[in-house]
Amino acid sequence: MTFVVTEACISCKYTDCVDVCPVDAFREGPNFLVIDPNECIDCAVCVPECPVAAIYAEEDVPADQRDFTPLNAELARQWKPITRTKPALPDADAWSKVQDKREELKR
Ligand code: SF4
Ligand code: SF4
Repeated sequence: MTFVVTEACISCKYTDCVDVCPVDAFREGPNFLVIDPNECIDCAVCVPECPVAAIYAEEDVPADQRDFTPLNAELARQWKPITRTKPALPDADAWSKVQDKREELKR
């Protein structure tokens, strides 16, 4: 199993989740974070830290977000680790209210 970052994180990237991860499993892209499934130890401590509730256990990922599970694995191989919280993206609060924003994901 692993935990998965889903659509709500896109263009928000608050990074509150990063500080609490005991194994530094988060990877950072231009406007999205993913979890490396090879590092995640399923501790769940990151879940309540995310202000937009973007993180799910793999088996709890909503049906319309399931493609984010392989996407996290794919992007985790390409992106670098992020281990410290940093300021959110400038328009994060506005993007946090947008529901359908997959096309905004930058690689
Ligand atoms: S706290 Fe949530 S929105 Fe922020 S980077 Fe982590 S998963 Fe993305
Ligand atoms: S579930 Fe635990 S190990 Fe996995 S990404 Fe979240 S904090 Fe890190």
